[in-house]
Amino acid sequence: MGTPRETRDDQTVEVIDRLEAEYPDSTISLRYSNRLELLIAVILSAQCTDERVNAETEHLFETYQSPEDYANAPQEELAEALNSINFYNNKAGYIREACELIVEEHDGEVPDTMDELTELPGVGRKTANVVLQHGHDVVEGIVVDTHVQRLTRRLGITEEERPEAIEQDLLDIVPEGYWVQFTHLLIDHGRATCTARNPDCESCVLADICPSEKGDGDIDLASGDPW
Ligand code: SF4
Repeated sequence: MGTPRETRDDQTVEVIDRLEAEYPDSTISLRYSNRLELLIAVILSAQCTDERVNAETEHLFETYQSPEDYANAPQEELAEALNSINFYNNKAGYIREACELIVEEHDGEVPDTMDELTELPGVGRKTANVVLQHGHDVVEGIVVDTHVQRLTRRLGITEEERPEAIEQDLLDIVPEGYWVQFTHLLIDHGRATCTARNPDCESCVLADICPSEKGDGDIDLASGDPW
């Protein structure tokens, strides 16, 4: 078990500093070339790896290009085009309905406010934050995905459990200039080292400040259970 910095603010800044050194090129890993593609890629990425989404969207984005293309596509045809993605039937439905709304109520443009985005089917606060940050350069929140949720708890940065509550907590702690990068750094570390089932604490650059670092009888603060 490592010893965290005295305050959560100090712990957060230390984590950012070390992960920035470790992952200097950290950024979004979904591939897209416009806002609509970004929105669709993020909807597809729920409970699915970015790698799988990128493999699938490579041909999807060639076949469908405008919101009208998706809105007018038969449900079965679109679902078939997505069939290697988890929950592809539901996601095909969300994408068709979201694109219908984009055509009917937003002149074919992906909206640029949290309220309008979260009115689209299949779009929660996490998806909306990604689209605002990377599609519109609007940063009004912190994206809390499964990696951010797990690592912030393991590292003693938050004790909240739900993503929405974690986000609110983080907004008070993470320096505003890092609201976007914080997510990417934790995702990179969650993929490379601090994985869900078997984190590699021995080679972790945060081990000495991580209260979940594996040792005799220590606890994984993400789950609250002993390792
Ligand atoms: S890999 Fe281990 S030491 Fe590193 S952040 Fe995760 S739980 Fe902590």
